[in-house]
Amino acid sequence: MTGQNPVFIPGPTNIPDRLRQAMNVQTIDHRAPDFVKLLNPLLEDVKKVFKTTTGQIITFPASGTGGWEASITNTLSPGDKVLVARFGMFSHRWIDMCQRHNLDVEIIECEWGNGAPAELYAERLAADTEHKIKAVLVTHNETATGVLSDIGAVRKAMDASNHPAMLYVDCVSSLGSMDFRMDEWGVDLAVSGSQKGFMLATGMAIVGVSRKAMAAVETATCPRCFFDFRDMAGANANGGFPYTPPMGLLLGLRASLDMIFEEGLENVFARHRRLADGVRAAVDAWGLELCAKSPELYSDTVSAIYVPEGFNSDVLTNHAYDTYGMSFGVGLGEMAGRAFRIGHLGSLTDAMVLSGLATIEMAMADLNYPIELGSGVRAAQEVYRRTARPALQKVA
Ligand SMILES: *Cc1c(COP(=O)(O)O)cnc(C)c1O
Repeated sequence: MTGQNPVFIPGPTNIPDRLRQAMNVQTIDHRAPDFVKLLNPLLEDVKKVFKTTTGQIITFPASGTGGWEASITNTLSPGDKVLVARFGMFSHRWIDMCQRHNLDVEIIECEWGNGAPAELYAERLAADTEHKIKAVLVTHNETATGVLSDIGAVRKAMDASNHPAMLYVDCVSSLGSMDFRMDEWGVDLAVSGSQKGFMLATGMAIVGVSRKAMAAVETATCPRCFFDFRDMAGANANGGFPYTPPMGLLLGLRASLDMIFEEGLENVFARHRRLADGVRAAVDAWGLELCAKSPELYSDTVSAIYVPEGFNSDVLTNHAYDTYGMSFGVGLGEMAGRAFRIGHLGSLTDAMVLSGLATIEMAMADLNYPIELGSGVRAAQEVYRRTARPALQKVA
């Protein structure tokens, strides 16, 4: 029975029936001549979600983490300097990966709950007159803290000192749910995956690669083989794959893009904003605090919520799971035990989100949290009633 409930973890997200059916296929020959008819239009259409016309899309059978590794190994060499801010678990893990590839990692430490500090990036870049920094890394949506960063501001910080470094952005938990503008923001590597905004099963890394990043592949010396952009790009150009593709996911991605374009990309963003506004109204009504330090940092795909002093968020999420069969995100890293997360991205309606809010309220009431049962649900109901747009409720 628990499988009937939607999940409120910030990925993997709920898989709509239409996409489950699209992925459920008998074996298909990927060397058959008609594979090209699936692959090429698919990669073209993915560009629309990244908002790029000049970049290209590279996919790998991997999770998002594989997309990070591919971006690093294809474009950087051991000893290369990279500049990165740490403000949550995902930026932390990306830093760890850079260090394990023997890059020279310059870290800007930030208190968790803050976003990417554009002014500090600007300072460090301006100070780097010899242009030792080869790459600037930013996590667009820090899933651990529910913080959305301003990538355009980081680009401006780079341009202010005419710095030639490339810009790498983790958009795993933002792409396809919140606005992302690869070309406008001058992003060189944009890393995403199949299991969040695309509403698919896990298993495909999806990376947007600029021309500059593609050119860097020729001189970068980090070892790579399975993840070599050139092998993938070369095979794709001939309508094929360098090895066996994850066929179910490719078919799923076709259907996912169809769904996103039918709803309209901007409508998808608007739906996420509304759903998130309802969740935030609930948090406010409960008298709890978000980890995100200010409203311009609020993520529309995930809310990380501090539990009151003296409570343990792991006990709460375990209780919700054991008692009501519903999954919420646990606190990660510095937030472990101190915060729980409500994922509100992907295939969700008002009614689904209300069920999540009602359930976490029951769990909190069971554990004697100082909240009023029904208060959060009521606050979210008011938001959804006030902004109701029936056309947005039809998630196929
Ligand atoms: C989910 C996520 C990832 C990738 O995780 P995988 O489990 O490897 O797919 C990376 N960064 C962020 C911000 C994420 O939310």
